[in-house]
Amino acid sequence: MPKTILIIEDEQTIVDILKFHLEREGYACEYACDGQEGLRMALSLNPDLILLDIMLPVLDGFEVCRSLRGRGVQTPVVMLTAREDEADKVFGLELGADDYVTKPFSLAELSARIKANIRRTAEPADGALPRAAHGEPSNELCYGGLTLHLGRMEAYRDGGALELTQREYDLLQFLAQNADQVFSREELLERVWNYEYYGDLRTVDVTVRRLRGKIEENPAEPRYIVTRRGAGYLFKS
Ligand code: CA
Repeated sequence: MPKTILIIEDEQTIVDILKFHLEREGYACEYACDGQEGLRMALSLNPDLILLDIMLPVLDGFEVCRSLRGRGVQTPVVMLTAREDEADKVFGLELGADDYVTKPFSLAELSARIKANIRRTAEPADGALPRAAHGEPSNELCYGGLTLHLGRMEAYRDGGALELTQREYDLLQFLAQNADQVFSREELLERVWNYEYYGDLRTVDVTVRRLRGKIEENPAEPRYIVTRRGAGYLFKS
């Protein structure tokens, strides 16, 4: 079954280019030319990934993304931004978007991003499960008041379920499974985001900041995800 990509974009030329290119790469494409139609199609088609323009008629891309996440839809969303300052907004507004590319984008770059984002959700982070005291594989990681259920991909703080996006969870699990090791932002992009060739390092900082806002008692003085200046991040056991 080919993976389905929903393109929500009002510029027909861009839609045509994207469709042509993505179908040649083996994806099935659907498209909507305004935000409201896009939202409706995202909910009814359940695509594998959504390419979402920001400036759209009726509902803009920010509203579409927020609305999807508000309904619990966790489909990876890659925002198509026209300017760098829009890119900042994508993460600044905490919409739950997974990634963005800035127009004009290279098709090779876009393909790599799409592949990485689809792979993230199709294959949850692997890596050896930690061992419990009696030697059996454990499905839980506990540090202080923080608990991760690896099988269910859920995290709890002091018993309360945390609302984490897929990427936030992946980052938390990766760091927690490798507690007390420092990872550079480049390493995290490669290991958690699956970016092999390039990547925007700010993506890591923004995701760490969002994660701290959800898991830390005091995000300004984090107990779990600590910054090592000039080196990267580590999870403190
Ligand atoms: Ca547009």
